[in-house]
Order: sequence, then C-alpha cells, then structure tokens
Amino acid sequence: YTGKPHMNMLAQQAKNIKVKEIMSLPTVVTEDVSVYNAIVTMFLEDTGAIYVVSNGSLAGVVSRKDFLKNAIGGIDVNKVPVGMVMTRMPNITTIFLEENIIEAAIKIVNHEVDSLPVVEKVTIDGKEKLKVIGKISKSNITKLFVELCKE
Ligand code: ADP
Repeated sequence: YTGKPHMNMLAQQAKNIKVKEIMSLPTVVTEDVSVYNAIVTMFLEDTGAIYVVSNGSLAGVVSRKDFLKNAIGGIDVNKVPVGMVMTRMPNITTIFLEENIIEAAIKIVNHEVDSLPVVEKVTIDGKEKLKVIGKISKSNITKLFVELCKE
C-alpha cells in the first residue's frame, strides 16, 4: 500500500479496462502504395501511424519520422513504395484485443512509440500471422486518463 488512495483507485479502474474498449480504427495500406500516397493518407486520416499489410497480415508500420527521414534523404516519393521505408515485422510491438490497457501503456513507454497495432492471430497458408484490427495510441490512453480523472 503506497499511502496514495486516490492513485490506487485510478489504477484499479484502469486494470479492468481492456484494449478493445478504447482502441480506434487503424489506418491501413498495402506495401506497394507509394510513399507519396501514404503521406497523403496520413494527412487525410489525421493519424501519426499507418499500418502496412501484405496478404492480409501485418507487415510493418510507417510513422511521421520515417517519412521525414526518407524525404530528407532525397528518395523519389512517387516511385518508392511504403514497404521500403517502413519498420518491418518481426520488429513491430503489437497488442491483443483482450489485453489490459496498462499492458498497452507499458509497451508504448518501453518501446518509445506513439501507437501499437491491435492484432489477432490468424493462420494464412499454414503459417501463423497477425491480422490488424485496431490501433491503440497515446491519445486513446490520454483520453481515458481524462475520463477516469473526471469520475
Ligand atoms: P513519430 O515518427 O511520429 O515520432 P513513432 O514514435 O511512433 O512516431 O515512431 C518512431 C519509429 O518507431 C518509426 O521508425 C516507426 O516506424 C517505429 N514504430 C512506430 N510504431 C511502432 C511499433 N508499434 N512497433 C515498432 N516500431 C514502431
């Protein structure tokens, strides 16, 4: 017992909330989409991360910094596909639907990323893959924090 009862109440409430309750819709593109079109998608969808899929499963993540880094590097944004600038599996930190939001928050902090793809296991051609079904980001968690603090 830490001697901070109000903090413990927040923690206890948060412990009962699952990823699926606060996740949002993911923005998804395929690997062959041009960096140019992926940047346009990022603006139109007002998101900081795009999840890249290949044959129905998670292949990578592309963020604002990936685009900036490559734009500074002078790539031809109309020719280079997003698959060439993304962070690739298996180096993607993910979270499952039924996991607790605390687990998501810990992963976001420890891996220093802005969002996690919410995934479920699927079998494609006899191989276990991850299908993207949602997104959990720093803003989902910040909104929840505000809601819990109102109570
Ligand atoms: P931003 O580029 O807007 O700062 P992030 O901090 O989320 O966004 O991304 C930083 C780097 O981490 C990028 O190279 C991105 O591809 C990568 N990244 C983003 N989310 C994840 C994740 N869930 N797992 C692994 N890498 C990620």
